[in-house]
Amino acid sequence: MTRVFVALGGNLGDAQATLRQALDALGSLPRTRLVAHSRIYRTPPWGLREQPPFFNAAAELDTGLGPHELLDALLQIERAAGRVRDGERWGPRTLDLDLLHMDGAMLSDQRLTLPHPRIAQRAFVLLPLAELAPDLEVPGQGRVVDLLAAADATGCEALP
Ligand code: ADP
Ligand code: MG
Repeated sequence: MTRVFVALGGNLGDAQATLRQALDALGSLPRTRLVAHSRIYRTPPWGLREQPPFFNAAAELDTGLGPHELLDALLQIERAAGRVRDGERWGPRTLDLDLLHMDGAMLSDQRLTLPHPRIAQRAFVLLPLAELAPDLEVPGQGRVVDLLAAADATGCEALP
């Protein structure tokens, strides 16, 4: 079994409900157990200004799936969430699932980079990840608590 951390995010539709459904879906994947999940955070929009706030969380899994199998499963959950929120028409994405860390594995190909290359600057990833694994070493980036201490978490708040 491999210990895995996944970042969840979304800002369209009922994003909190989508994140909870995604956590259930992660725990229902074959050969996979949901070990723990963080609280959900409300975080300021990233990039484009004119969009609703984001909701973010992190999940810890044990899985027998390989990295690319797991990536395929995450993309499938994203697509399913999009269909649920948008009905019959195509719409903007309601759910983003990123593979952050898989037992410290480092790999990079056309489809997948591990660890996720943009953990270090993103408070919306680090805050929930620090609840689950403050001492986790992200290869090439640093320890989660140290990365969080250096990140700008302005406007990020955990929901009750
Ligand atoms: P972002 O998450 O950076 O905002 P996207 O979710 O649109 O961007 O990116 C999706 C693509 O990124 C996926 O199709 C996948 O092939 C690729 N990718 C590379 N590394 C990872 C990773 N560690 N986790 C998730 N997707 C990844
Ligand atoms: Mg993504």
